[in-house]
Amino acid sequence: MMRKTTSQNSLKHIPQRTCLACREVKDKSQLVRLVHLADGQTEIDITGKKKGRGAYLCRVKPCWETGLKKKTLLEHNLRTVLTPDNLEQLINAGKKIYLEGRDG
Ligand SMILES: [Zn+2]
Repeated sequence: MMRKTTSQNSLKHIPQRTCLACREVKDKSQLVRLVHLADGQTEIDITGKKKGRGAYLCRVKPCWETGLKKKTLLEHNLRTVLTPDNLEQLINAGKKIYLEGRDG
């Protein structure tokens, strides 16, 4: 008797997420999560474990620029409205991420 082993392999399942800006599907670990917290603030969630609505962006400058320019899209994904201050915080935090994320 043969047992079906189809997609049931023992490899760890890697969650896939879509980048808000370029729409590419990547491993979650390759993306940066933005989270809309219960207190109304939106921030970068490095651990990816904070509670709240999330949106994802690649660790590259073009995606951050596009993603944060598409404010309404970001707001739609996070189900919130971003204040100008909050948006600026995200832009500044994003700069650190994609600058540090560069190899070399
Ligand atoms: Zn992207």
